[in-house]
Formats: sequence, structure tokens, C-alpha cells
Amino acid sequence: MLQDVTVVTEPLVELYKDLHAHPELSFAEHRTAGIVAERLRAVGLDVIEGIGRTGVAGVLRNGEGPTVLLRADMDALPVLEDTGLDYASTARGTDPEGNDVPVMHACGHDVHVVSLLGATQLLAQHAADWSGTLVVVFQPAEELGGGAQAMVDDGLYERVPRPDVVLGQHVAPAPAGLVGAHPGAAFAGADAFQVRLFGRGGHGSRPETTVDPVVMAASTVMRLQTVVSREVAGSDTAVVTVGQLQAGTKSNIIPDEAVLGLSIRSASVPVRTRVIEAVHRIIRAEAQASGAEREPEITAAESFPVLVNDPDATSRVVGAFQAAFGDGRVIAPGAVTGSEDVSILSTAAGVPLVYWLLGGADPEQFAAAASRGTTLSDIPSNHSPHFAPVIRPTLDTGVAALAVAALEWFGPEGFTPERSRTDTADTAGSNG
Ligand SMILES: [Zn+2]
Ligand SMILES: [Zn+2]
Repeated sequence: MLQDVTVVTEPLVELYKDLHAHPELSFAEHRTAGIVAERLRAVGLDVIEGIGRTGVAGVLRNGEGPTVLLRADMDALPVLEDTGLDYASTARGTDPEGNDVPVMHACGHDVHVVSLLGATQLLAQHAADWSGTLVVVFQPAEELGGGAQAMVDDGLYERVPRPDVVLGQHVAPAPAGLVGAHPGAAFAGADAFQVRLFGRGGHGSRPETTVDPVVMAASTVMRLQTVVSREVAGSDTAVVTVGQLQAGTKSNIIPDEAVLGLSIRSASVPVRTRVIEAVHRIIRAEAQASGAEREPEITAAESFPVLVNDPDATSRVVGAFQAAFGDGRVIAPGAVTGSEDVSILSTAAGVPLVYWLLGGADPEQFAAAASRGTTLSDIPSNHSPHFAPVIRPTLDTGVAALAVAALEWFGPEGFTPERSRTDTADTAGSNG
């Protein structure tokens, strides 16, 4: 099967360029979803469209065995592309606030879509070599942190078989051809909150008749800074940022309310829980301390749970990568501060997740930058207007990695026939 990766990937290069040139914003992935559905049907999958608005799922039932869910996200970002590529995007879109914005696949989700289409095709064409049920999920709106939840809320797991494991990948500014997964907490949790603090307005000369929401907001902002310094252990990390603070219209008017916008990052599930609880407690308590007659309104906006890679499942995937690609192509990427919503799919199914990083940078450019010590400045990262994964071998590796990881569950015959299968029999059972 491994030798066919190149055969499968070759014609997908044109599709990659086409998707890159036609990016679509979160929950507007109509064209992409249509192409995905058509391609999945062409290789024999049962396809369900419109899950969580623009999500697409495909199912390939191939006999007895585990159910493996492979996931790709489809959305692009409001970024003006500046890569100079001949297939660069000039697309425009409408953001959630109604603004006309440029659109670019600046996070590489086009790599994810094409890699998963290639892996699906590979597995479908070699169905005689494995057995089980393949579920592929093409998710909308990862960038908003809402797409995975939208698919779950729209009955994803009533509409496709519940998986035994969720697998996926994100292209990253590491050399193309490399892959790597970090066991445990691998991507930070990110939560945004909008807070309305209610006071009682009045004349600036008569504060005794009012409950001043500006003072309430100021104390709240200051007290929130004690969450990380006083409630998070020195060995843990978290960030609480108040990036938005609005109140009032004129210096001698005490306003009725103040608005805060909060952004929270956390590197483990317990820390995230503790920080969010502390933030809620302080906001309510400061309102009470000010004598507010109405409880503050705290609205969760974007939310990305901490992404936790299951240690056992991760070691299986990493072992399969080492056997298929060789140790030299498997890196230990460590935990990253970025965020991802893929774990919503595994948590909702109550099953392990393995989410790995896929190198996308030109290996020669990367090596040159590394020898200068300038990889951080010279290799564009995700969300940059210059982010431009080299097409090959990024796609070849992306296709192969998904298939290799899936076959670790679907075995016994896959890319890694030289591996002893007996030593994985126990863990296979525990994931069933
Ligand atoms: Zn992104
Ligand atoms: Zn992304």
C-alpha cells in the first residue's frame, strides 16, 4: 500500500492548488464541502452532508473490526495572502460581523482536507488489506472553536458509527516529511468570555446615587490578575488577559454598565477548570462588593478545550510512524500553545484521541534557516500571510500518516508488516 501513496498524491496536487486558491471562512465552506462529498462518493463511501451546517462525514464499512475516525478541518482565515504563489488566493468573504475581508488558507486546513481525501482513497482502494469501519469527518469552523461542537450537537454520532479512536493532524512549520505527536496535554485550552457588569448610572457629581461600573470594572481587572499569580501553581501555566474594557460616553456621566473581554489560556484540564471557576467567582464577587443590584452576565465566546493526546494510543501511533517512516522522520514536538477543537470529537465519543503535527516547511529552507539560527523569523508560521506549505512531500506524508495511523487499528496487514502485532494486542483490546 505504501508505494501507492505517490500514485494517489500526484493527481491531488491540482486539487490542493484549487482549494488553496478558493478558501472559505468558517461555516461558509460550501464549495469545499461539495468537492469533498463528491470525492468521497467517488471512492465508494456513504456520505452525509450538512452536519453542523457545512460538515461532511463519510463511512466505509469494511467488515469486522474497530471503527476509526479520521478528521480534517476545512475552514480558512480572514488574512490577505502575501505568499506570491501562482495559486495564491484572492478570495474575499464576509466575517461574522458582516465585514468584507480577504480570505486565505493561512492555517493549512487545505493540506488537511487533501491529505484526508488521499488517505481515504488509499484505504478504499486497498480494502482487502484491512478490516473495520472507516469514518472520515470534514469539519467546519475550527478557527472559531465551534465546528466540532456544531457537528456533535447536530447528531454526528447518531449519524455515523461511534468510533473507537479519533485521529488527525495539523500542518506545522517543521520540515516537510516529518511527523510527531506529544502524549498528554499537547495543545493549550483557550477560552474567551464577554462580561457585562451592571451598575446604576447617574451624574458624575453625585456618585452617592449610583453604583459605578467603571470602578467595578477596574477592580475586577486588577483582581483577575491574582488568578494566575495566586491560584495557579508555580509549576503550571495559564494566562488571563483582559483585552477589552469599555464603559461610558462622557467624563461627567457615570454609565449604567461596563463590558470586559477576557482571553484565557491553560495547559491542562485541571488548571483550565480552576482558572475559569476563579474568574467567574471574582467577577461575581467584585460586582457584589460594589453593591451591584444585578448579577454580571458572563458569556462564553470562543472555547477550545485543552487537547489531550491519549498516552497509550499516542505511543501506538508513534510506533507505527517509526516503523513506516523510520525514526529520523518522527520528531518529539512537545506541547504547543496553539489551540484546536478536535478533542471535542473524541470527548463526545468517550474515546482516545491522537493528534499529531505534520511538517510543511521546505526542508532545504528550514535547514538553511536552522543553520543561521533564524527559523522563528524565516519560516512563516500558521496564520501568517506568508504561510505556504511546500506541496510535496507534505501531502505525501499527510496521506501516508493518516493511513498508517488508521491501519494501526485496522491491521494486521498495513504499512508496517515487519512489526510484531502480538505486542499491541492488549492495547488494541483496551481501546475497543
Ligand atoms: Zn488556525
Ligand atoms: Zn488550524
